[in-house]
Amino acid sequence: MAAIKSAIPTRRFDAVIVGAGGSGMRASLQLAEAGLNVAVLSKVFPTRSHTVAAQGGIGASLGNMSEDNWFWHMFDTVKGGDYLGDQDAIEFMCREAPKVVYELEHFGMPFDRNADGTIYQRPFGGHTANFGEKPVQRACAAADRTGHALLHTLYQRNVRARTHFFVEWMAIDLIRDAEGDVVGVVALEMETGEVMMLEAKQTIFATGGAGRIWAASTNAFINTGDGMGMAARAGLPLQDMEFWQFHPTGVAGAGVLITEGVRGEGGILVNSQGERFMERYAPTLKDLAPRDFVSRSMDQEIKEGRGCGPNKDHVMLDLRHIGADTIQKRLPSILEIAHKFANVDATKEPIPVVPTIHYQMGGIPTNIHGQVVTTKNGSNEIVNGLYAIGECACVSVHGANRLGTNSLLDLLVFGRAAGNHIVASNLKARSNKELPADAADVALERLSRIENSTGSERVQDVANAIRKTMQQHCGVFRTDELLQEGYKEIMELDERRKHVSFKDKSKVFNTARVEALELDNLIETAKATITSANARKESRGAHAHRDYEKRDDDNWMKHTLWYSEGNRLDYKPVVTKPLTVETFKPKARTF
Ligand SMILES: Cc1cc2nc3c(=O)[nH]c(=O)nc-3n(C[C@H](O)[C@H](O)[C@H](O)COP(=O)(O)OP(=O)(O)OC[C@H]3O[C@@H](n4cnc5c(N)ncnc54)[C@H](O)[C@@H]3O)c2cc1C
Repeated sequence: MAAIKSAIPTRRFDAVIVGAGGSGMRASLQLAEAGLNVAVLSKVFPTRSHTVAAQGGIGASLGNMSEDNWFWHMFDTVKGGDYLGDQDAIEFMCREAPKVVYELEHFGMPFDRNADGTIYQRPFGGHTANFGEKPVQRACAAADRTGHALLHTLYQRNVRARTHFFVEWMAIDLIRDAEGDVVGVVALEMETGEVMMLEAKQTIFATGGAGRIWAASTNAFINTGDGMGMAARAGLPLQDMEFWQFHPTGVAGAGVLITEGVRGEGGILVNSQGERFMERYAPTLKDLAPRDFVSRSMDQEIKEGRGCGPNKDHVMLDLRHIGADTIQKRLPSILEIAHKFANVDATKEPIPVVPTIHYQMGGIPTNIHGQVVTTKNGSNEIVNGLYAIGECACVSVHGANRLGTNSLLDLLVFGRAAGNHIVASNLKARSNKELPADAADVALERLSRIENSTGSERVQDVANAIRKTMQQHCGVFRTDELLQEGYKEIMELDERRKHVSFKDKSKVFNTARVEALELDNLIETAKATITSANARKESRGAHAHRDYEKRDDDNWMKHTLWYSEGNRLDYKPVVTKPLTVETFKPKARTF
């Protein structure tokens, strides 16, 4: 295979970023503005990355609506994550939050405004004043299109800074040299099928989440876990993959997201008896309790027969009392989504909603600079040349359950931090490391397997089977039996996946090749998730286990590390010591 190497075109950069969502473009901006030669690859046009779909807001304790501070934000994030988040990283993120939001404002982001000209902020789930006393308005919003405004702002700044965009280029695999250092990626131009090697002194993964391993998901179709797949194949671990967030309000039957901002603006959840049931489950925060909590409460209502509709399989989100004027001003896209996907006029009728997969708390393990870290003999080891940021990374600031608005914040804080760390390393003065002779082997072997396979499996059948298994066996509530069966099925699907082929080899579209390559990433993410979930014998945050209903801090207050090779698990301790303040000690999570 090595002989083919010389035939593959190669381009050389200071830094290559895979992913043009909020995290990738925040990092590229930092690098390009410092004069570095930066390439950003994306499977879609940059402003179509999933960040564009973010609706509700960015969390930062600006205190524009009432008193607020970063320490309260930190407490909410630690507690919201059920004490699995690393407190040093959480402190760093919450302290940086106002800075990155004001920076965006100066970049020209069109935030909504208060009468006095300051940024408008709305309440969001789990965000409180004075350590849980009452809800606080912390989500900085641009109507219900915050991600859209954010992504366009960042794209325009990047164009000005002369970032090189490789649009509709798919990274296939990492290039690691004999010392284990990452020296670039192999990529495919999706239109032509051309393969190229991109050499980089630093490679940054910003590939987003993998919500498409579930059948019902709020995620874009491109969210297939490519960063996780590439990392896993390169021998790197994935952290805390058992923790996936179900958003309480996906449109029933369609999966499309209805932002938590609707409840922030006063919307309430009701069951078939017209009861505002969240008052029973979370007397203080009610409908604005954290997402894992609300999703479980909804599931419980449905299981106990108080669901709505002919099949009693969803509940209702009622926002009529907010008033048509406020709905049109603050939630215009929600009106549109309710109309298009549920056929209701949300100013006059409630919207049918159901918990829907939304966000992965786990990912590629990193430190607060975004550097990828593995663990060897109990101590952390940095992988030279590789960073990960955004949803594909696990810093970990979200622990076992992310608070709404903390992801856009995570993209900005750690995208910027990774950029700064690379700039400070004086990259310009260093030359690129030599590419190894077998640089493209892993990628080419995959391409050749897919191209030449005579197997009888179809890509879509295997991908759909993965989604069905994950949906049935790894849902809002889990049991040993469900997880064990799910594990078996996913391992069988891993075998089937190796035998996918194209029906008519003379007429293969590049889109089909891309889907086959994505399937390899879906399966790695699904294996990581079900293996990690099957092993964790407790309930914590989004991992709600019927057979072990309590959180078990004595045995399970630790991060999971999953390795593809041998499908094996390892664990590492949670960082409970913050940077400058005292540790928040685990407490019962009531709201
Ligand atoms: C509907 C919805 C609403 C949300 N609302 C909010 C909100 O209000 N507030 C909040 O804080 N969070 C919200 N979230 C979560 C948040 O938006 C995401 O976690 C975040 O935007 C992810 O950003 P990212 O930069 O990590 O990746 P993404 O924005 O997902 O971008 C991933 C990029 O990677 C590229 N890519 C992937 N694989 C490859 C490959 N192999 N080769 C080349 N390129 C590749 C893609 O083309 C894309 O450019 C929401 C999420 C969803 C789905």
